Amino acid sequence: MAVATEGTLDVLNPATGETIAQVPNMSAAEVDEAVERAKKALPEWLDATPKERSELLHKLADVIEDNAEELAQIESRNVGKPLMASRDEMPFSADNLRFFAGAARNLEGKSAGEYIKGYTSLVRREPLGIVAGICPWNYPLMMAVWKLGPALAAGNVQILKPSEQTPMSLLRFVELAKDVIPEGVLQVVTGDGVPTGQRLVEHPDIGLVSLTGDVETGKLIARNASETLKRVHLELGGKAPMVIFDDADVEAVAEGIKLAGYWNSGQDCTAGSRVIAGPKIYDSLLEALVPVIEGIKMGDPLESDEIEMGPVITQSQQERVLGFLERAKGATVLTGGGTSGDKGFFVNPTIVTDVSQDDEIVQREVFGPVVTVQKFADDDQAIAWANGVRYGLASSVWTRDVGRALNASRKLQFGTVWVNDHLLPITSEMPHGGYKGSGYGKDMSIYSMEEYTQIKHVALKI
Ligand code: NAD
Repeated sequence: MAVATEGTLDVLNPATGETIAQVPNMSAAEVDEAVERAKKALPEWLDATPKERSELLHKLADVIEDNAEELAQIESRNVGKPLMASRDEMPFSADNLRFFAGAARNLEGKSAGEYIKGYTSLVRREPLGIVAGICPWNYPLMMAVWKLGPALAAGNVQILKPSEQTPMSLLRFVELAKDVIPEGVLQVVTGDGVPTGQRLVEHPDIGLVSLTGDVETGKLIARNASETLKRVHLELGGKAPMVIFDDADVEAVAEGIKLAGYWNSGQDCTAGSRVIAGPKIYDSLLEALVPVIEGIKMGDPLESDEIEMGPVITQSQQERVLGFLERAKGATVLTGGGTSGDKGFFVNPTIVTDVSQDDEIVQREVFGPVVTVQKFADDDQAIAWANGVRYGLASSVWTRDVGRALNASRKLQFGTVWVNDHLLPITSEMPHGGYKGSGYGKDMSIYSMEEYTQIKHVALKI
């Protein structure tokens, strides 16, 4: 008999505020049932060859490619993001799964050998068993894919929890893939952080929890996971600086800021939310930037393919973003601020100047379409300001001088440094993950396989 759920949760379209679906708020007992199904599935999946695991991942990539338009439409409606953006995420997500389909067959390690006289030592890289992935609302399907690729490639079985706000694309994906996923190998549980997410974190039979989410959620999960000493992988928030040296190409930088700061309404952990510009370029940059940002076409993505920016995810997120602007006393809102339209959760694309390094709006992640611009005096101050936040996820440097770019890349304390670009240069082969308060562990790339595996020394007396 099925155990009781803790009611249902409304899922909204943030562009209209309307409820588009309801999903179960699963109880701890329901999570326990999912873990039991995962346990049953594990022995057979552990016996699957790398080729068989690879084949599953290719089939999952096929499901995304074959249903890309439907999944993009669902994503756009549930997150409020422009269709062109959610369409872009589908081939990238499929590519990510194909990368891990290859990685499943390519795990490498130290060669077996006689490191101790009379013994042959060999290293086995093994899965953890049952792993959990807890996802955010900004890229619901893509963040789930980033977790399931390495997890299944490494031979784990996985339980994913989408954000309570944006479960729709992942639910549809697993429905479309139900004939290819072996029973219990990949499951989705829906519900709030508490009780559903918390039970995944506390369950003694789950070997790892991977969270993409807020810093405070990350700290809480790390604390709760310590009770069972499970492994924790944390992809948390960011406050990415864009360091603009005086010799940068002003027009290219203005277009770069439009993308970096306002893509997905600025709800991106790598969003370029802090522009730190040189003394000679500062004025001309603002002059070029303001019309570019004022030209962003904002609206309900489902009304037109031309829409470049949608709403933020919820009313409380809208209020949170506006709260940052209200509290930024002494700052100048050069353009934007405020809301737009009589429905949905829109925030106008905003540029804020006259801010100090210690100001809340410079120090804390806003997670909305708000970019601050600071003027630095010299290179040392630029790097010090760029590093002077608790986050360390992504950053960029804009200059025509290779030496300056390399020096800055060395000194910036961030998991990614882009040179003369920001946000989009990501690829399945390269790692994505934070330094400092942005968490630990990597998504994408062969490095992420380390999160989902453990190594064993086997010594044989010969
Ligand atoms: P959130 O932390 O509020 O929620 C993330 C997930 O954690 C949700 O599924 C939520 O239900 C779950 N959760 C909440 N409390 C929990 C608990 N006590 N136990 C277990 N699970 C719990 O984050 P969000 O608002 O959905 O996403 C925005 C945040 O995610 C931002 O800070 C953003 O920077 C970050 N983010 C980071 C990356 C990255 O790669 N570093 C990528 C995207 C988003």
